Amino acid sequence: MIANERLVEIWNLNCRPHGHRSRTFVIAGDAYGQLLGRTTSKEIAEFNSWEDPAFDEALGLTRHLCPQTEKTGAPFQDVLGFVCDLSPGGRRYSFAGEIHCPECGTTEVEYGPDEPPEIRPMEVPQVSHRSWDNLTTSQKNQLLKEALIEKGWMEKS
Ligand SMILES: [Zn+2]
Repeated sequence: MIANERLVEIWNLNCRPHGHRSRTFVIAGDAYGQLLGRTTSKEIAEFNSWEDPAFDEALGLTRHLCPQTEKTGAPFQDVLGFVCDLSPGGRRYSFAGEIHCPECGTTEVEYGPDEPPEIRPMEVPQVSHRSWDNLTTSQKNQLLKEALIEKGWMEKS
């Protein structure tokens, strides 16, 4: 995977149901256009929405399938991970912003930086989307449609 050095802010995670403690990262400072994907484990990767043409292609198709995307962007955040190849650990990235406990997977976590925040450079891998690239436009549409159905944004027709 290609990786870029980014400044990341370290966040502490505290899992409410089980008290698991761990840490995660958010991209610090001006990260506009850099979308951070997470897996239910500790893996993160970024999707460069400005430089990667797959982003606009997937966004255009999603808008067409689900006009609600125009209003909130939420449907697209929910399906962007389906465009990406799986993580090195074999998991799907999520760009919806939810943070999981890496021990048990719950999203019932409290999180935040230290005071003052700890910021350091880190190599953040970039997502790849080789299988997406090999699909025809109609297969891409089909993949997004299934993802939108799975995420509850579309009815099964
Ligand atoms: Zn936990």
